[in-house]
Amino acid sequence: MRFSQMFIPTLKEIPKDAVLASHQLLLRAGYIQQVGSGIYNFLPLGKKMLDSIRALIKEEMDSIGAQEVLMGFVTPAELWQESGRYGQYGKELLRLKDRKDNEFVLGPTHEEMVTHIARSFIKSYKQLPLHLYQIHTKFRDEARPRFGLMRAREFVMKDGYSFHSSYEDLDREFAQVEQAYRRICERLGLAYKVVEADSGAIGGSGSKEFMVLANCGEDTLVVCKSCEYGANLEAAKRKPRQSPKDEGKYGAQAPKAAFGEFFTPGVSSIESLCEFFKIHPFFTIKAVVKKAVRESQAEGSRGDIVVFFVRGDDECEETKALNVLNAITDEPYLALENASTELLESMGLKAGFIGPIGLEGVRYILDEGLRDARGMITGANKQDYHLIGVDVSEFRELQEAHYADIIKVQEGDLCPHCAKELCYAKGIEVGHIFKLGEKYSRQMEARFLDHTGRAQNLIMGCYGIGVTRLLPAILEQKSDEFGCVWGEGVRIFDVVIILSNIKDSEQMAYATHLYEELMARGIDVLLDDRDERFGFKMKDFELIGAYQALIIGKALGEGKVELIKREGLQKRVIDANDALDSVLESSSVPKNNAHTNTRSANAK
Ligand code: ATP
Ligand code: MG
Repeated sequence: MRFSQMFIPTLKEIPKDAVLASHQLLLRAGYIQQVGSGIYNFLPLGKKMLDSIRALIKEEMDSIGAQEVLMGFVTPAELWQESGRYGQYGKELLRLKDRKDNEFVLGPTHEEMVTHIARSFIKSYKQLPLHLYQIHTKFRDEARPRFGLMRAREFVMKDGYSFHSSYEDLDREFAQVEQAYRRICERLGLAYKVVEADSGAIGGSGSKEFMVLANCGEDTLVVCKSCEYGANLEAAKRKPRQSPKDEGKYGAQAPKAAFGEFFTPGVSSIESLCEFFKIHPFFTIKAVVKKAVRESQAEGSRGDIVVFFVRGDDECEETKALNVLNAITDEPYLALENASTELLESMGLKAGFIGPIGLEGVRYILDEGLRDARGMITGANKQDYHLIGVDVSEFRELQEAHYADIIKVQEGDLCPHCAKELCYAKGIEVGHIFKLGEKYSRQMEARFLDHTGRAQNLIMGCYGIGVTRLLPAILEQKSDEFGCVWGEGVRIFDVVIILSNIKDSEQMAYATHLYEELMARGIDVLLDDRDERFGFKMKDFELIGAYQALIIGKALGEGKVELIKREGLQKRVIDANDALDSVLESSSVPKNNAHTNTRSANAK
């Protein structure tokens, strides 16, 4: 392409509401245009980069035997009603009606649609395994679309779904997809971490996220400083604590007291309780009261009160808490919200004095770290009173209570695998792979006949990559103060040829000849033929982030030109006679496709 003919509407000003560097760059360099909240147009450069990323992902998916399909973006609501998600999915699901009043949803994900394909055509175990994927538009009516393509409402995802006749075969596919995803991240030159992820209420062993490490990431990761362990904070585990992790204000000794009720007037926070008794918060039981809401209840309704008990020096992790709750409830809750003091009081709960002993009329769950806790202090469910000397295992009601891991892992906690220290990191979730099992096939009656002729539910896995999210994710890691940097794996142009003076006929002849030679070999080349200052053209090269620039200046007279690689901006003076070979050498076009028996493109 010739620059003068390309549509690259770069901006001089930094767009006001773009806070992330990647968002600013994509707008400034003319890749995208915002048209509404979370909705973007892809301009030629944006589309070009999207296509490069898409092609790389396709290569890796095809290499593991997955087959590309294209499913309807507009999905009949009946499929979502069958799976049960029509009511459960919440407001992110955009529901709409056609002129005949038929209901549809704009697909935020395609498990229902693909399960429909499977049940229509898969009859026998002989047709398994099968892995179908698409690279297509999704719509999620996100509550807070932000950061440009990072969290859009309309975005492109690679979503793949596999079908199996056994769980072992699902495990095999899952591992294979993990490897393919790792190769994608590596080819994109990303610093990333594969972490254990929240599996939702479905449970199951397998859900992993691919996190691009970046300070702007919205996810907090728990990472072991010593071994490979990594998990999303929502799913992170730690080695159980047997004692306080520090001395605290009052030492790490367990308080010694016989069981009894103690008058603690106005002592309603963990902090004041510890001060009152001069103890470490490890020996107190904290009540975290939440309002669990279902979609149907979301507005105006009270929801159901649930109390989560954790040690005083722990926090309750909401996603874990919600999953645990949903695992023991028939109809799942959508979210946990804070419960107001008024609401607690209307339920007869004494805010600040709530404890698990003698707590009636509300559902409660204890953290598993409390199961054998001794010498604890907890609310007495009576205004201004606490219970002291509580050995949890001695109370029948607590023996029968529900225990689960609901704590938020803290920095400095110990790794569940190697017992070394854990720390936090920030990550951008670019991929998520998931063992679905029979969730959708059971609901939607997608069955196959096994080798004994018995009908079984199809066993499924699902695998997503945020294709449009990868653009900002790459830029967050690689871009510099001059503009976009894409690295080796995906390129906007293999080379941009920049003339210092387009009026110099020698320079122009050399450049045009080289340009044509490169074009003829399928190299993605841009000739900057604009009648602009050299500095201006260099700035555009840096801003749009072409892989490298070939600079043709006065030195052409001595047979020299310059190659500048965008990543790192290293310069290399080369012989003008070698320019073609140098560019071919570093191009992304497979070597056997580029003809090598070339005359060199010397204009002299
Ligand atoms: P998040 O936690 O960031 O909201 P998610 O867990 O809801 O993402 P998945 O359902 O796992 O997302 O979707 C698979 C992939 O799609 C994600 O890993 C992410 O890369 C991408 N993705 C999800 N939501 C968005 C969005 N609003 N904008 C851009 N990409 C998205
Ligand atoms: Mg996810």
